[in-house]
Amino acid sequence: MTDTMTSDPVLGGPGLPQERRMVTAIPGPKSRELLARKAEAVASGVAHTVPIAAVAAGGGVIVDADGNSLIDLGSGIAVTGVGNSNPRVVEAVTRQAAAFTHTCFMISPYEGYVAVAEALNRLTPGDHAKKSALFNSGAEAVENAVKIARKFTGRQAVVAFDHAYHGRTNLTMALTAKSMPYKSGFGPFAGEVYRAPVSYPFHDGLSGAEAATRAISVIDKQVGASNLAAVIIEPILGEGGFIVPADGFLLAISEWCTANGVVFIADEVQTGFARTGAMFASELFGIVPDLITTAKGIAGGLPLAAVTGRADIMDAPHVGGLGGTYGGNPIACAAALASIEAFEHDGLVERASQIGAKLVDRLQQIQAADSRLGEVRGRGAMVAAEFVRPGTREPDAALAVAVAKASIAQGVVLLTCGTYGNVVRFLPPLSISDDLLDEGLDVVAAALKEIS
Ligand SMILES: *Cc1c(COP(=O)(O)O)cnc(C)c1O
Repeated sequence: MTDTMTSDPVLGGPGLPQERRMVTAIPGPKSRELLARKAEAVASGVAHTVPIAAVAAGGGVIVDADGNSLIDLGSGIAVTGVGNSNPRVVEAVTRQAAAFTHTCFMISPYEGYVAVAEALNRLTPGDHAKKSALFNSGAEAVENAVKIARKFTGRQAVVAFDHAYHGRTNLTMALTAKSMPYKSGFGPFAGEVYRAPVSYPFHDGLSGAEAATRAISVIDKQVGASNLAAVIIEPILGEGGFIVPADGFLLAISEWCTANGVVFIADEVQTGFARTGAMFASELFGIVPDLITTAKGIAGGLPLAAVTGRADIMDAPHVGGLGGTYGGNPIACAAALASIEAFEHDGLVERASQIGAKLVDRLQQIQAADSRLGEVRGRGAMVAAEFVRPGTREPDAALAVAVAKASIAQGVVLLTCGTYGNVVRFLPPLSISDDLLDEGLDVVAAALKEIS
């Protein structure tokens, strides 16, 4: 079949009616039609969480082909922090698309790429001299951070942590902790990757100092600093369950790295760009990473990623050693510059904190009356609810999945995460209104109540 369900242009962005509107059951007939085509045409390995055909989005809603308007508490996994089809982004992208769409920065440089690098060098933590390189995806940024650290140190080993998620390419699968669905059957994985225990206060009960001592002992005894190029960690672990390390853990690890000539890489692909109530989560923990990887929130939905860090480390690779055909695409760079303007001038860092306070407050109220909600945690607009069997810390994945499913059926996009799959995560766009956020939380609370 050739006609498409989007033949009538639909305008998204903040002008969309900001309401939850259920016209059909989800999925409605038009969404079902697309999902049937998807099943025929798209590889089964590419899954989906919300069974709709999206046609427009903006502010705090996603609209489907059947006219349903869903409250968005996921931001396409922390990507549309500035809001879908943010007017600044739409304007910049339109202008750039009309000027030129690609030259390849390695062939003919252009200003947008350089301006994004300058902005990242300015915005990331630390006032040392910095440089940046741009790529297409979070995984690609992580791959390049490891390449750079290896070249700089002349060492090979890399340490990642329990519950880590760094992507789906071969090296980043090796760095990622969880087997199913990310790694199972896809090996062999890249070598010289080692895993250390992280700080997960809800489950290990350790202080930051205790957890750091435990991790450093593993790193020191099982890898050895003289072999170690880099330690990579998400300041708040994302896919692994929005795990917030205990105070002092990250600082102790980063200080050990500095003392041992090991490059400390903060993977801020999910936590970056105002998400956590700071421009970068590293700031919340008082750490200044040697290298920082960014992607997701950087460009309002366009594919862009970066490695930013100490100029001497970034300059270690030989000329021509870094790059890629599309890395730093001019349209994606225009979107990033417009997004950065929005983050800096539209009060989005403060907005993330307000959203976070609302989320935590409401979830803690629910927790006070429901012992299945084991822990509420997070920073800014990156908040998680971890579900357990009442009176224990045993994960209850079935409950988290049921809450997400029931919320989606009622028109609220809600995602899960966690090594044990028992965490519901809240990542609303920072453009969501208080009213929609409240209504979304009402729906989630009601869904939880109904499941016994
Ligand atoms: C999503 C994510 C990645 C991978 O990014 P892609 O753009 O999907 O390749 C890497 N690290 C973290 C922390 C992430 O959340």
